[in-house]
Amino acid sequence: MNASSSKTIQTDALVVGAGPCGLFQVFELGLQGISAHVVEALPYSGGQCAELYPDKPIYDIPAIPVCSAIELVKRLEEQIEPFNPTFHLNQLVSEVVPTDDLTFLVTTSAGTEFEAQTVIIAGGVGSFQPMPLRVDGVEEHIDKQVFYRLRDTSVVNDRDVVILGGGDSALDWTIDLIDQARSLTLIHRSEKFRAMESSVRKMQEFVDAGRMRFMVGNTTGLAVQDGRLTGVHVTQPTGDVEELPCDRLLVFFGLSPTLGPIAEWGLELDRHNIVTDTEKFETNVPGIYAIGDIAIYPGKRKLILSGFHEAALAAFAIKQQLNPGQKVFLQYTTTSPIMHQRLGVDGNVK
Ligand code: FAD
Repeated sequence: MNASSSKTIQTDALVVGAGPCGLFQVFELGLQGISAHVVEALPYSGGQCAELYPDKPIYDIPAIPVCSAIELVKRLEEQIEPFNPTFHLNQLVSEVVPTDDLTFLVTTSAGTEFEAQTVIIAGGVGSFQPMPLRVDGVEEHIDKQVFYRLRDTSVVNDRDVVILGGGDSALDWTIDLIDQARSLTLIHRSEKFRAMESSVRKMQEFVDAGRMRFMVGNTTGLAVQDGRLTGVHVTQPTGDVEELPCDRLLVFFGLSPTLGPIAEWGLELDRHNIVTDTEKFETNVPGIYAIGDIAIYPGKRKLILSGFHEAALAAFAIKQQLNPGQKVFLQYTTTSPIMHQRLGVDGNVK
């Protein structure tokens, strides 16, 4: 199926993944005068930096002695502003199909379609999927009474809510939903939390005030009546099992990355990585490039600065691919008038 529909978005470059390397790819493409569309599976950009360690310090970004991971993301977002990329968040690139005229028809889980001259995969360790609750029969209640992500908080209004998990998401939602729920119980496998201390303190205050319950234990079964979830079975450290009333179960066990659909696009893989050359960071499919953590080649180190270098060389190669027969010159941002124009600056130090 090569035909594209009238609402297909035409683009010279489509970046898959808005982690730090995908964001910097937009910058390097912008310097070359190439504008990009970016598709990101998460509802925000930043990849592992935003999802796994936003408040942790990073010390090995050149010329920034220290910054938090989320600050790095904010700085990258600011740096790419002049190039005005279009972000398509909260959607997974599900298909990349080469067409007869050497472009790629790209489809996302939200049904967005692109016809892209080049595709740059900056998919990191893959897309982040919620870690599932492993109890019998849970599948039939997902997004009805069992939720891994809460998009509409009104679903908990006046309900018996049970929240599972001990990280920031579990604690944040516990605090946020306390006034909406009829009853609220937080269940975690131990009294050790992976969340901010202030959130744990707040939750404890709610427990002391009798506004909610906290239980140590594991959810080992569901109570169901007439096809509807009515309770959860919690196995406590003593081995005792208690049934709690529950008609909304919110599961926040964290997110784990999976390569997902990228594995099906006909690219040469080495375990969970995409094999590239080290000149252009092109894959075995001409016109598809890979940079950042997902790219593998001899000597590869999965560091943000490696991905920045890869993004720069990929951008030169893409410029060449889009302008066959023309020489692509190296230009400095310090002195190049065309780059100043693209950056919207006058080239003088303020
Ligand atoms: P990622 O950050 O993984 O982003 C990839 C993005 O692609 C994700 O947002 C994902 O949702 C998206 N995606 C994947 N598949 C699809 C798809 N099919 N459709 C749409 N979107 C998709 N590195 C350093 O250099 N210095 C450090 O100090 C450092 N500290 C770290 C600390 C921790 C705890 C961890 C876990 C990592 C650390 N790293 C550090 C590594 C660094 O975070 C990674 O090298 C970097 O995030 C890689 O960036 P990326 O853009 O390639 O991929």
